[in-house]
Amino acid sequence: MTGDVSTDDLVSWIHGFRDAVAAHKDELTRLDSEIGDADHGSNMARGLDAVVAKLDPAPANAAELFKTVGMTLVSTVGGASGPLYGTLFLRMGPALASAERMDAATLGAALRAGVEGVIARGKAELGDKTMIDALSPALDAWDGAADQGPPSAARAAAEAAARGRDATEPLVARKGRASYLGERSAGHLDPGAASATLLLEALRDTLADAA
Ligand code: ADP
Ligand code: MG
Repeated sequence: MTGDVSTDDLVSWIHGFRDAVAAHKDELTRLDSEIGDADHGSNMARGLDAVVAKLDPAPANAAELFKTVGMTLVSTVGGASGPLYGTLFLRMGPALASAERMDAATLGAALRAGVEGVIARGKAELGDKTMIDALSPALDAWDGAADQGPPSAARAAAEAAARGRDATEPLVARKGRASYLGERSAGHLDPGAASATLLLEALRDTLADAA
């Protein structure tokens, strides 16, 4: 069916995420220097370089792809974000099984399984000033636009993620290292919400190109 997503598209997404994080590495690290320990950009860039090195030859299916991505992030990214992003991908894989092509509903369900895994692991709720503030609204936007196909769903999700990221600025952090700052964490964007927005924007760009 036209508009469905292939494993190759998902491999391109991961490459796109690596490229976006590399391009925004200093910005992510600057955000983390304001309310954390100034390592988010370098953590994620290092992990995603290791991921991309494992994608040649390309995995046979989406389940294998996301298992490789998740395991590599868990083992190479330090800090909170490694296990959390690792969990996101490790939970997405089984939701896609070995499907060759995926429609928007299937991919949305996989994203939801991934984000639920992050919530189960990190215990963050919406408004705690974490990556969840970008990921959770993105899922809802995806579902709302899923009947228009993957490129539209991804566009809606990326917009919602960016709004969620921007909305973290005034918040006081209640999870992760930034929470140690208490009220002083307000007035800064959350770095993990910024990288999670890059993840959704990379998916939007990949699917727009593939369409
Ligand atoms: P660390 O804080 O260990 O240095 P990073 O700097 O790589 O790790 O990542 C920080 C980001 O991780 C935060 O900006 C936040 O978005 C995310 N984060 C931290 N703790 C949690 C949590 N419990 N649940 C969800 N996301 C979290
Ligand atoms: Mg950090």
